[in-house]
Formats: sequence, C-alpha cells, structure tokens
Amino acid sequence: MTKTILITGSSRGIGAAIARLAAIEGYRVAVNYRNDEASANAVVRGILGAGGAAIAIQADVGLPHDVERLFDAVDRAFGRLDVLVNNAGVLGSCRVEDMDAATLERVFRANVFSMFYCSRMAVRRMSTRHGGAGGAIVNMSSVASRLGGMAGGSHYAATKGAIDSFSLALAKEVGTEGIRVNTVRPGLIETDIHDLHGGTAHVRELAKTAVPMARSGSAEEVAQTVLWLASPQASYVHGAVVDVAGGR
Ligand code: NAP
Repeated sequence: MTKTILITGSSRGIGAAIARLAAIEGYRVAVNYRNDEASANAVVRGILGAGGAAIAIQADVGLPHDVERLFDAVDRAFGRLDVLVNNAGVLGSCRVEDMDAATLERVFRANVFSMFYCSRMAVRRMSTRHGGAGGAIVNMSSVASRLGGMAGGSHYAATKGAIDSFSLALAKEVGTEGIRVNTVRPGLIETDIHDLHGGTAHVRELAKTAVPMARSGSAEEVAQTVLWLASPQASYVHGAVVDVAGGR
C-alpha cells in the first residue's frame, strides 16, 4: 500500500525538501502552502516529473476551517493519511515592550494553533481508536525553544517551547493508538525564513561562531531526520526530541 504524507508549509524551505525526499522514498505527497502558489506548484511539478504522486493544496493552517478543507482534499485525492508533518511556521522580530496582540496572534496561530488543528484531523484519521491504521506525526520545533531565539524572537521562541510540550502531551495521548509522535528541532538552516534577519549570508556568518560544527545546515539534512522519524526504522522512537543543529 502506497503511503500518503501531508507536509504543512511545503512550498518552500524545509517543507519543500521533505516533500521532495518523501516522493523519492515512494510516498504520495500533499504539499500545503498559504500564499506562494507558484513555489508549491513547482514542488509538485518536480515530483510528478520524476514519476511520483503529489498535489498542492492552499490552506492557512492557523485557521480551523482551512485545515478541515485541507484534510478533506487529501482524503479526496489519496484516500488515506499515514504521516503528518506539522512544519509550517513563521518567524517574527519584535521586542517584548512593543509586542501587540495582532503580532502575538499571527505567530501563535501559524506556529501553535496549527499543530492542534492539524493534529486533531490526523488523529481522527490515523488513530486505531477511530478505526484508523496508525501513522506518524512529526512536529517542527526549533532550538529557539531552549536558546530563546534571535534578538526580538521571544514570541517565536515561546511558540517553539509550546510545540515541545504539545508533542510530549500528544505522544502520551495516542501512544497506544498506533500513532508515533516526535519532534525535530533544527538550528541554523539556510531557508527564506531568515530574510527577516539578514538572510543566508547572515546565517552562514553566525554559524561560524555559534555552531560547534561551524556551519549552517541545509533543508535536506532536516528532511532526512524527519523522514527517518516517520519511517518503520524508528518504530520504537516516540515522544522524542531530535536536534538537527550541528551541536548547537
Ligand atoms: P520558510 O522557508 O519561510 O517556509 C515556510 C513555509 O511555511 C512556506 O511554505 C509557507 O507557505 C508556509 N507557511 C507559513 N505560514 C503558513 C500558514 N499559516 N499556513 C500554511 N503554510 C504556511 O521556512 P523554513 O525555514 O523552511 O521553516 C519551516 C519550519 O522549520 C518552521 O516551523 C520553522 O520555524 C522551523 N525552523 C526553521 C529553522 C531555520 O533555520 N530555517 C530553524 C528552526 C526551525 P508560503 O510559501 O505559501 O508562504
């Protein structure tokens, strides 16, 4: 039976790398995006061109109705769900004394509420409690959860701390229901998310001193870890937090 994977926020960056690698590993791939339709379609075209199966689905995963529509679309296209990667996330830059409700809500909706909205839809489909066949959920945190993030990143760091806690709690909840839940914490990875803080050049410079391996990581290096956690090779790995951060 060909497995289906849904990766939130997979039009670009780490999510896109997971989508491409998942297709190579034989998954049917649901590529979710919020705004960047052209990039999502490019990921899908690449997978189809290599003989794989993929669709692009627009949905803001911070909005519950969008998430319902997203999972319905996956059901219609592939008829089953085996792996959910809660990857979508946004960064922000704001000092605490300047933080307003709209800024907080934007980051918490995209990074934390999305985990609840997507995971509940996945559990309803995958849990043996609901007649499902089991599966895996991988949540994308960040080393910011234990380092506090970059300057002006208190809200981002706090969302990632919430993700670590959420993952542990969800792992307890569904551990006997065939679903493994794990967390990946990337460090400095070269993607567009850093455009807010000087881009790739800044990330590379920072990594020279901040990372024990003295280099930044690639989206593909994170993707390899995510897909291993989702795979049968990780059958007894549950409630784990795996840092992909070059020792940082
Ligand atoms: P990125 O290059 O900025 O890509 C973000 C992706 O998420 C895009 O596909 C974007 O869609 C999507 N997205 C954002 N908000 C969304 C929403 N509300 N609904 C649906 N899709 C949404 O970021 P990245 O670096 O790959 O980051 C991916 C994840 O890794 C995030 O959770 C991030 O916090 C985490 N992370 C990254 C790093 C790093 O150094 N890069 C380090 C630690 C953790 P559109 O293209 O449509 O906008």
